[in-house]
Amino acid sequence: LVSRKKQPDNTVVTVKDEQIGDGNQRLIAGPCSVESEEQVFTVAEALKNRGVNLLRGGAYKPRSSPYDFQGLGVEGLKILKKAGDHFDMSVISEIVTPGDVETALDHLDVIQIGARNMQNFELLKEVGATNKPILLKRGLSATISEFMNAAEYVMSRGNTNLMLCERGIRTYETATRNTLDISAIPILKQETHLPVLADVTHSTGRRDLLLPAAKAALAIGADAVMAEVHPDPAVALSDSAQQMDIGQFNEFIDTLRNEQLLKDGV
Ligand code: PEP
Ligand code: MN
Repeated sequence: LVSRKKQPDNTVVTVKDEQIGDGNQRLIAGPCSVESEEQVFTVAEALKNRGVNLLRGGAYKPRSSPYDFQGLGVEGLKILKKAGDHFDMSVISEIVTPGDVETALDHLDVIQIGARNMQNFELLKEVGATNKPILLKRGLSATISEFMNAAEYVMSRGNTNLMLCERGIRTYETATRNTLDISAIPILKQETHLPVLADVTHSTGRRDLLLPAAKAALAIGADAVMAEVHPDPAVALSDSAQQMDIGQFNEFIDTLRNEQLLKDGV
C-alpha cells in the first residue's frame, strides 16, 4: 500500500489547515521534551511569530537510561493541546504504547511513533486503526525496506495519513550522534507516495550541524524538516547539546528562507 507502484500520486497529509507533502516544504519545531507550560508557550510563540504552525514536544520520552527524565506523560499532552489551541498551531508528540492512543487522539494533531518503536507492531496496528495523521520515524538500525514495512503496518489497518521521517541511523561514525542517511529521502520519495521528513536534530545530535543538515534535506527533496528548539537549551531536561535557543532558531529559519530553501509562512 505504501508503494508508489500502487499509488503514483503523492499522498498529501492534512494537519488542521496545513498540507504536508503538497510541494511546499515545511518546518516542524519545538522542544525535545515538554517541561512546563511556560517553556512550551515560549517556544510556541516564537515559532508562531515566524509563521511556523507545526509544534512538536515530547511527553512520553523513551530515554536510554531509566534514571533520566521520562517526560510529563498526559500532563505534557495537556500542555501541548493548550498551546495548540492558544496559538492556533498543530501539535505533534510521541506515544509509546497502544494504551496511549485514545488520550493522544484527544490531545494531538499528529501522533509520532519514535525510532525505538518503529517495530512496535501492536502500536503500529493501533494507530493504523485511527485516521489521525501519523509521523513514523525510522528505527535506529532499520533498513529502508524494514521502514517501509513498518509503514505498511499502519496503512494496512486503514490509516492513509502517514508521513515518514528519516532521523539518522547507527553507523561506526562517532562524530555525530547518528548518521543522517540523506539518500534515504529521495529513495523513500521514489519508492513510496508518502511525505518524507528529515529530523536534523536527532540525526546529527549537534547544534552546529542543524543548518547544513536542514539545507541538505530540503535541497534533496524532504517535505519537511524537524528541529528542536528550547528557550534555554543549557538547562533542558533532555537533548541539551543539540537544541537551538530562540535566537538561533530565528537565524536558522532566516537563513533557510534567504537561501530560498524554505518559503515564507511554512
Ligand atoms: C523525538 O523526536 O523526540 C525522538 C525521541 O526522536 P527519535 O525517536 O527519532 O529518537
Ligand atoms: Mn530530542
